[in-house]
Amino acid sequence: MKENLINIKNIRRKVLIVDDEPINRRLLGFIVDRDFDVIYAENGMQALEIIKENEKTLSLILLDLLMPEMNGYELLKLLHTDPELRRIPVIVLTSEKSAEVESLQLGAADFIPKPYDMPEVILARVHRSIELAEDNIIINETEKDGLTGLYTKSFFYQYAKQHDHYSPNQKMDALVLNVNRFHIINELYGRAYGDMVLQKIGEKISNVLDEVGGIACRCESDTFFIYIPHRDDYAESFTENAELFAAELENPRINLRLGIYENADKSTDIEQRFDKAMLACNKLRGSHTLNTGNTFGAYKTSYTYYDTQLHEKELYSERLISEMDKALDEKQFKVFYQPKYNIKGEKPVLVSAEALIRWVHPELGTISPGAFIPLFEGNGLIHKLDRYVWRSAAEQIKIWKDKYGVSVPVSVNVSRIDIYDPNLENELLTIVAENSLQPSEYLLEITESAYTDNSHQIVETVKKLRADGFRVEMDDFGSGYSSLNMLSALPIDALKLDMQFIKNIAENNKDYRMVELMVDIAKFLSVPVIAEGVETEQQYMLLKQAGCDIIQGYYFSKPIPPEEFNLLIENEK
Ligand code: C2E
Ligand code: CA
Ligand code: CA
Repeated sequence: MKENLINIKNIRRKVLIVDDEPINRRLLGFIVDRDFDVIYAENGMQALEIIKENEKTLSLILLDLLMPEMNGYELLKLLHTDPELRRIPVIVLTSEKSAEVESLQLGAADFIPKPYDMPEVILARVHRSIELAEDNIIINETEKDGLTGLYTKSFFYQYAKQHDHYSPNQKMDALVLNVNRFHIINELYGRAYGDMVLQKIGEKISNVLDEVGGIACRCESDTFFIYIPHRDDYAESFTENAELFAAELENPRINLRLGIYENADKSTDIEQRFDKAMLACNKLRGSHTLNTGNTFGAYKTSYTYYDTQLHEKELYSERLISEMDKALDEKQFKVFYQPKYNIKGEKPVLVSAEALIRWVHPELGTISPGAFIPLFEGNGLIHKLDRYVWRSAAEQIKIWKDKYGVSVPVSVNVSRIDIYDPNLENELLTIVAENSLQPSEYLLEITESAYTDNSHQIVETVKKLRADGFRVEMDDFGSGYSSLNMLSALPIDALKLDMQFIKNIAENNKDYRMVELMVDIAKFLSVPVIAEGVETEQQYMLLKQAGCDIIQGYYFSKPIPPEEFNLLIENEK
């Protein structure tokens, strides 16, 4: 932390000298000018005006006591009672011993005796008073992060703001640095190792700051904020540092991602500037597995910039969020259905469907759920939308049942947020009952990562739902990090493979072997395997060969409106 402070301490502070004697002003100014920017006032009145003008940037006042207009005592009193101004330390200038006690009582930080015969001592006193006052603010506000020695978040913001006050014209970059899937590193190697990784990152950041200036904090477990003077060479410096870092740890699993908001707009709040950097950083989430984005080097460390594209995306997101309620009322949301076929026999047989939402927006066209589901998950709106889909799906099962005399079970997606809703079970039972259905006709898809988020809560919830008769499929299996141990304790009815594995199954033998492995796991758990995202005949044949039970994908059909789905049911007859 000390290193970080030094950078701020190097900034030239502003000091006000208040004295009615021109010769005294000049003498003192000559001494202080070496290390500080100096401004002058001739009496208390004038000083007060200047202080108010420079309220935010003034670091210290050197104050003579005996002056016309308003004397030093009066000014001292005024300053001491003002909640904003009292933070500015005042050193009293006096030739009378007796005045010292009184001025200290009035809130002066120190005094300097006249005449000014020891410049070094004077300068040292000025420095010390400023340091004490600044440290005081800091100590009162927060603490530092014990693990890395960097600032904590509120402390950091405080300092970043101070930095802006002192150097309003310096171009600054806001950076957010994050460890990809840090919780997995903790799980795999233990907390002590995780802490060591964070400490190393803290060290690296401090080193960079020593070189280029700026400040940093650890703001949440594995997220670091860095505020540094603008630079253009992130590509080189970051690659270099990251590779050094990974080599030092001898662990290629540790990938970092960096979001950069360069030349951060100082007219917006510091918090907002870091939100933007965070947005850029989040854009890279998971990119090391998908291998997209600015990925480079053996350790696949990545960085990206906040840019106009992200800004537009932000605005777009805002718009979607603000329009959701209206869209629900106006029935802009449509539920589509995608068939799932059992491929165990000679001929594929339609066994169920997945309900997938679409937003048919009057101006923006059809918006896919990938664009709004994550947004709505972030602010609770998903609750309403999911219930709308669940109700529509139940009504649809009923319609098909009445029309064709067969039950086509439909699976709905249950968002991870829903798992925490104590009312979930009741709501689902009500929806099913209102449409005279059995819970067994209703399937629930829950993504694997929701299980890893909070395995205890989810196991309890899923147990209850299954006891009610609902069938639960684990969605996106293979994308999370369930351990075999955990899986065997999980109450589920099917494993649905993550689409990523299917994508390259024909080209990549490793992916094929992964699928085989997952089929083995499913056998061990005695549950069927569903493969989704199946687009080609070749993928279909390979999956059949690997032992998959059920297939969903464009190979059979895209998600389609219910009227079109009617034809698929009719074809089965
Ligand atoms: P998911 O649950 O993994 O759904 C499968 C996604 O794969 C769907 O994307 C589907 O249209 C797409 N897909 C199906 N077959 C193929 C194929 O052969 N090739 C390719 N490339 N893609 C295929 P979609 O509809 O865009 O949905 C994306 C995600 O949004 C879903 O992923 C799900 O997590 C979420 N979602 C969709 N509807 C809802 C909903 O009503 N509630 C909640 N909470 N989430 C939903
Ligand atoms: Ca799904
Ligand atoms: Ca899926």
